[in-house]
Amino acid sequence: MKIFNTLSRRKEEFKPIEPGKVSMYVCGPTVYNLIHIGNARPMIVFDTFRRYMEYKGYDVNYVSNFTDVDDKIIKKAVEEGVDSSVISERYIEECKKDMKGMNVRSATTHPKATEEIQGMIDMIQTLIDKGYAYAAPDGTVYYRVHKFAGYGKLSHKNLEDLEAGHRFINVTGEDGKEDEFDFVLWKPKKEGEPSWPSPWCDGRPGWHIECSVMSKKYLGDEIDLHAGGEDLIFPHHENEIAQSEAANGKPFAHYWMHNAFLNIDNKKMSKSAGNFFTVRDISEKYDLQVLRYFMLQAHYRSPLNFSDQLMESAKNSLDRMKTCARTLKELNDSGKLSDDGITPKEAEKLEQAKEFTKAFEAAMDDDLNTADAISAVFELVRFINSNIGESGSLEYVSGLTDQLYTLTDVLGLTIFAEDEVDDDLTAKVEELIAERTAAKKEKNFARADEIRAQLTDMGIIIEDTREGVKWRKA
Ligand code: AMP
Ligand code: ZN
Repeated sequence: MKIFNTLSRRKEEFKPIEPGKVSMYVCGPTVYNLIHIGNARPMIVFDTFRRYMEYKGYDVNYVSNFTDVDDKIIKKAVEEGVDSSVISERYIEECKKDMKGMNVRSATTHPKATEEIQGMIDMIQTLIDKGYAYAAPDGTVYYRVHKFAGYGKLSHKNLEDLEAGHRFINVTGEDGKEDEFDFVLWKPKKEGEPSWPSPWCDGRPGWHIECSVMSKKYLGDEIDLHAGGEDLIFPHHENEIAQSEAANGKPFAHYWMHNAFLNIDNKKMSKSAGNFFTVRDISEKYDLQVLRYFMLQAHYRSPLNFSDQLMESAKNSLDRMKTCARTLKELNDSGKLSDDGITPKEAEKLEQAKEFTKAFEAAMDDDLNTADAISAVFELVRFINSNIGESGSLEYVSGLTDQLYTLTDVLGLTIFAEDEVDDDLTAKVEELIAERTAAKKEKNFARADEIRAQLTDMGIIIEDTREGVKWRKA
């Protein structure tokens, strides 16, 4: 697979550090409000990347944080007269609801900045010990940007050029800085703010150090991929590189992926201009699957414009996929299909349909081109619509159904009605599958068959594949 690496500004072949494994970190939202549809774009895009890597057989370790200490959270807490953890916990829960609606899977780990403070203090101390950071008299700790030779390599900014075009603006409270480019790693507390003790002062971490530390703790010093929206390239990701590489003495992330922005009516989304939607606003009008489809029909590196008209057209397209899925399901349930096995002609058609999967994979392998991948799914839909009828073999129809299911599942689009997630059922099925896998390992095939029968009785179809056991509702 090729991905466009912001670091090299080229499409590069993706080679993981450990064969068969992907370690990835996606910067998550600051939780002071309901997430907006701009925040939803990286969530959907990188969830799709993860799903595709899993489809290709990789074991993906996906880490995405919640930034739960921040000026905006504190401001809101003051307004409401509550502790800032009340605000962050509330919006983490709300964010999880929106993620579920958009079928964005939970990360392997969702660390919270406030639970990782010790790691931040340790990394800041390492940076001070190595000469990359210093504490000002008021207890603020700054990163010494000029000391890090690679500064600017991600954003392709050159410090000298930046300096030339930059007027020195002395920000209040930043008098202790050695250099205007130095950024904050630790800042002293202000009255009423959450704070933690540290060797420098009671205070709280800067935003950039949070991600360096959470990535290190959950994925290691050197990781495959780091991702987020393009506004994070500078300074956030540039600063993360400076911190992590200086502290760990190793390259940080091998690949950097950034999604372009989502605009509204061709204008930058902004609260003050009033052209601002939360995911929750959209959910009142549309199934959030439509929002997911809308996001994926564009390439993630192209700016995307949000409008009612485009959402309507996304809805219509998704409905066409759903209609095909329903037709297949009705045919499967009709009792009219033969179970005498597939006919040679049908086998030939199934073989022909595989071309659509190949086209889908070729698109996804080309820097996650979900737009072309969706076109391949539509070709499959058209093929199915014109190649199924009242009769035919069960094997043929379920072959096509599986193919459509697999491709739409990689995109995270739930077009089969029975996909609607039932957490209790999912937990039960996964428990039984794990038990069956264990039974097979112990060569207790009788027990394994018994579990399969139990799953069948529950209306669950399981399939043993190269990537492990897959299941779906019958
Ligand atoms: P924030 O909560 O502002 O830190 O943003 C969380 C994530 O959403 C980051 O990856 C941002 O780059 C991304 N993001 C914010 N606004 C937009 C937008 N309008 N379009 C696309 N991505 C965005
Ligand atoms: Zn981050």
